[in-house]
Amino acid sequence: MVGKEKAREKGNIGIMGGTFDPIHIGHLLAAEEAREKYNLEKVYFVPVGYPPHKKEELLSHAQHRYLMTVLATVNNPYFVISRIEMDASAHTYTYTIDTVTQFREILGPEKKLYFITGADAILDINTWKGYDELLQLCYFIAVTRPGYSLSRLEQKTSRELLSRISILTIPGVGISSTDIRERVKENKTIKYLTTSGVEQYILKNKLYCS
Ligand code: NAP
Repeated sequence: MVGKEKAREKGNIGIMGGTFDPIHIGHLLAAEEAREKYNLEKVYFVPVGYPPHKKEELLSHAQHRYLMTVLATVNNPYFVISRIEMDASAHTYTYTIDTVTQFREILGPEKKLYFITGADAILDINTWKGYDELLQLCYFIAVTRPGYSLSRLEQKTSRELLSRISILTIPGVGISSTDIRERVKENKTIKYLTTSGVEQYILKNKLYCS
């Protein structure tokens, strides 16, 4: 029985969705914590392509976000980067339902899929395309920062969804991509908020300066 259970658990896969503009230590800690806690065989990082909920001109180019994600994850053998959303045709909105459906098709029906992202993003999930279908396709891991009020999530979310969401609080980390972008703009250090490779990439390519 134990062997069977282990075999099933081995099929768990994480899909870490985010803008990653830029990726930071909080994202990496969350992915690693989720990997360990949910016995994830792999965690696929999926930088958003052309998201329906954001203005394209406010995002760094997808190639920059992709390369920073590669740099940040290069040392972890369990982390894989997926270009699935970035390579969708230009100016075609990318939706999580389409991404998870493609993962399901590629990985087969046996794998248990966990979509990992920020709790604030999950708060609006009932407005996402194909919400009902998405609920059937995967489980959710909602990453929160310390001090996050879970009651907001509980109030805004259906009982059915709540039963498929796990909350993952990352202790001691209050880092956000917004904060990093603002710090760069104000010429403040971002050392240790992200990896040194990502820090160097941001400085070399003069991202977030204006
Ligand atoms: P967002 O609104 O930029 O982020 C909301 C909050 O979640 C921010 O505090 C953000 O912090 C945090 N966050 C985002 N991704 C995270 C991650 N992987 N791990 C930990 N915290 C994370 O969210 P977003 O990045 O645009 O979207 C998140 C995911 O939801 C993406 O995969 C996106 O495609 C999906 N989504 C889908 C639809 C749809 O299908 N209609 C609509 C909305 C979002 P940081 O800024 O520090 O990351």
